[in-house]
Amino acid sequence: MLSEKLTKLLSEQITHEYDAAYKYLAMSAAADGMGLKGIASWFYSQAKEEVAHGTHIFQYVLERGAIPTLGHIEQPPAKYADIQEIFEAGLAHERKVTGLINNIATAAMQAHDHACYNFMMWFVNEQVEEEASFSEILDKLKLMEDNKGMLFALDNELGTRVFVNPFPNQ
Ligand code: FE
Repeated sequence: MLSEKLTKLLSEQITHEYDAAYKYLAMSAAADGMGLKGIASWFYSQAKEEVAHGTHIFQYVLERGAIPTLGHIEQPPAKYADIQEIFEAGLAHERKVTGLINNIATAAMQAHDHACYNFMMWFVNEQVEEEASFSEILDKLKLMEDNKGMLFALDNELGTRVFVNPFPNQ
């Protein structure tokens, strides 16, 4: 069975994942409002992925014989100056999540809970990818500056993202 401390940390992480989903859904709406349908769709997929993360942790806590406690989700920001600001906020959020994930992995290690530590490794790897994808898009946005044609191309490129649930059995 999970320790009380790990149950608390994992419960909080479920809330953080759903909070991320809510933030990305708001970013999807903001991008749509800027006429960037492809980027809006990319954030919509990102939101669904965060729900999948949260649900995966929820199921794991139950599987380990503990009961998760769900927390409060704040209203996400709705107004952004431009598309770059949206991705900057996204990257900052992913960096924060990386810190939280690492913290849970450390707690699992200290509790000698190898199963939980192993469970967290999927998220540790996932965070490397999440930060990289936000960084790469931000780099492109910085390179293109005010070039509308390039922004249009990026919008098309990001619009091709297809959401695949990493945990299809949930
Ligand atoms: Fe996540």
